[in-house]
Amino acid sequence: MKITRIETFLVPPRWLFCRVETDDGVVGWGEPVVEGRAEVVRAAVEVLSEYLVGRDPLRIEDHWQVLTKGGFYRGGPVLSSAVAGLDQALWDIAGKHYGAPVHALLGGPVRDRVRVYAWVGGDDPGELREMIGEQVEAGFTAVKMNGSGRMDRSISAGGLASIVGRAEVARSVLGPDRDFAIDLHGRATAANARRIVAAVAGLHPLFVEEPLAPEYLHRLGELTGATEVPIALGERLYSRSDFLPALTSGLAVAQPDLSHAGGISEVRRIATLAETFDVQLAPHCPLGPIALAASLQIAFATPNFLIQEQSAGIHYHRDAGLLDYVIDPAPFTFVEGHARRTALPGLGVTVDEHAVRQADKRPHGWRNPLWRHDDGSVAEW
Ligand SMILES: [Mg+2]
Repeated sequence: MKITRIETFLVPPRWLFCRVETDDGVVGWGEPVVEGRAEVVRAAVEVLSEYLVGRDPLRIEDHWQVLTKGGFYRGGPVLSSAVAGLDQALWDIAGKHYGAPVHALLGGPVRDRVRVYAWVGGDDPGELREMIGEQVEAGFTAVKMNGSGRMDRSISAGGLASIVGRAEVARSVLGPDRDFAIDLHGRATAANARRIVAAVAGLHPLFVEEPLAPEYLHRLGELTGATEVPIALGERLYSRSDFLPALTSGLAVAQPDLSHAGGISEVRRIATLAETFDVQLAPHCPLGPIALAASLQIAFATPNFLIQEQSAGIHYHRDAGLLDYVIDPAPFTFVEGHARRTALPGLGVTVDEHAVRQADKRPHGWRNPLWRHDDGSVAEW
């Protein structure tokens, strides 16, 4: 079997899909994307494809080594995401070739269903009570919300009280047996993050996510040492090596993204590395159905898995959603807040190729918002 063609598709709301075709008719799909930089990743996929076309798709690890280490300059979000999507597609091909789901190729399932959480609120969450109530009604056992919208460099007493107030609303609606997580999105300074985490600790969040932006990872140990709240991060880390300093600094929940951190091959290794630190895995995935399918394959095969993010109903997807590019929604139909294991081969996603080709005719140019502080200086989004 040889790879004969690799195509990419820029599809709303902000995703990039790749399609890898082989000479025996098996096709694999992947989702190589950096949100807001999809066109740049598309160019990287085209460059990496020069190597893959004409080769045996089943030599996944050897290709991963070449794609990540065969170039003198390596790593970073763009290249790691390009490799991630291609790696997903190769695993999809391998599963279809062997007639097995990817989790079977990774050693077999360790669970029958995967707990997922739902997003509530937008960048500036309001009306939380109602939104969380709707997710409980839909069967979810956990939700995640942003801690705040734009955050001042020095948080006011009022700003802190409003974060705590939202956490109190969440806990009161969810009761003691469901969970909420708070995403700080790297918007707080290290000093403010410490105050925020302390202020919400009594409400027992499942975790607090990205209390620090990735460039301040060297301060993570101060934060984890000062709180009993589980700290999560990792959507902006791209390899085992990137995760190691976080793991040695008291990280509780590792959040690699299947479409950023080198795909199934590398996230599987990140999970194993995390296991040696007794750290749980909660892959980041505000992305499309292929990235979610890849995430679920990892979840079914990984013992130290905690919970899976998914993008149904997420606030920044207005033009298209999780189910717009799939023929069979079953793998993404959540029951009691869980995705059920299927025996579908490969990634277990049946991509609607016609819908994907149509969508690519009107390529998106999604960019994340640019925020500024009241004095005109640049603020974290
Ligand atoms: Mg996040």
